[in-house]
Amino acid sequence: MTSKLLRGRTLSFLRWPEAIDDHSAWRYEEDGGLLIDGGKIIAAGPYAEVARKAGAGIGTIDHRPHLILPGFLDAHVHVPQMQIIASYGAELLDWLNKYTFPEESKFQNAQHGRRIARLFLDEMLRQGTTTVVAYCSVHKSSAEAFFAESHERNMLNIAGKVMMDRNAPEGVLDTPQAGYDDSKALIAEWHGKGRQLYAITPRFAITSSPKQMEMAGALCREHPDLHMQTHLSENHAEIAFTQELYPWSRDYTDVYEHYGLLGRKSLFGHCIHLSEREADALSQSGSVAVFCPTSNLFLGSGLFDYQRYRRREKPLRIAAATDVGGGTNYSMLRTMDEGYKVIALNGEKLNPFQSFWQLTRGNAEALSVADKVGTLDEGTDADIVVLDARATPAMRLRMETVETLAEELFLLQTLGDDRAVREVYVAGRPAKSAIAA
Ligand SMILES: [Zn+2]
Repeated sequence: MTSKLLRGRTLSFLRWPEAIDDHSAWRYEEDGGLLIDGGKIIAAGPYAEVARKAGAGIGTIDHRPHLILPGFLDAHVHVPQMQIIASYGAELLDWLNKYTFPEESKFQNAQHGRRIARLFLDEMLRQGTTTVVAYCSVHKSSAEAFFAESHERNMLNIAGKVMMDRNAPEGVLDTPQAGYDDSKALIAEWHGKGRQLYAITPRFAITSSPKQMEMAGALCREHPDLHMQTHLSENHAEIAFTQELYPWSRDYTDVYEHYGLLGRKSLFGHCIHLSEREADALSQSGSVAVFCPTSNLFLGSGLFDYQRYRRREKPLRIAAATDVGGGTNYSMLRTMDEGYKVIALNGEKLNPFQSFWQLTRGNAEALSVADKVGTLDEGTDADIVVLDARATPAMRLRMETVETLAEELFLLQTLGDDRAVREVYVAGRPAKSAIAA
């Protein structure tokens, strides 16, 4: 493993920034240095100090005047939906029946799965995202393909084979036993292999029979260290259908509660229309609500009330995500731009430091991986993004009037996309420049 020294304007968060002038919530170095060795950050701080520690003979990669941040994390994506992103005119249940299920049935073909997994991870790295929490298709081979590609890139990714045994076409269904057996085999093969982590993945209550929900609960009990991911309270028709399918339940969240699926490593996509009881149940169990703004706007699902969820007496842990292909952009910068607008429609604001906290440390904490990624702390994995706030003519022009770091971050979020991502490092290795255009 070769050592390297990065130089640039480094920014990393220590905790949630209460306000725009809450300077002790982050660490910013105008001339910062990061010493990387063996895929980890060995030293971080002012460049002069880090360079002294590094000693002679270590080459400096000079990223000045760009910003160096921890790589972004995306807490909810659907790998098999790359070829249905930007499909017109549907709400959630129609979207699934018309576009998603036919598309995901193509993943019976393992070669197709491998091709899309490769292109998906390339795209994520181009956008500065170094960790995703991914839904593969129902087919075991789609998860194998994803993990193989992820492992080859040495990325820290969390993923699972979707479990679904009803209310969808034959080509995307498993059975309670097959879903359990395939998940078990994938866990044995991939969880903890290199940086790979497995997530138990029942798609949602509508496409899993009570028997399959029991099996998902059994997997969670047998593997309490694993993540569990599913969808919750995205759309009114979805909520009503769930109540019909589980007539004994108090509400949608109660279905997952009943099968033992709540907990600190449980990730619930959307959570838009929760009752107070449901929000309390998520809070008390430490479960995570995943905010997917571009998807929620695109499918007309509703407005996630980020600030109210944070401030309530029993607050929710929150992660942010693209939810591609229901989401409309692979970029977490574009995602937080839309997130800002959703929060504005709820009469609130999310300041730029809070936003970049969410993209990095905030998501890492929500995913319980902040000891490994999401900061520039010494001893963590060197997953890093380099951002250029002058990446386009319009950004360059706007930068002429930018005076503060907060303004620069807000410009990056509002106008930035993959063009603003100059380089990405995965475990210390340059990853964006390594992808063929
Ligand atoms: Zn989703």
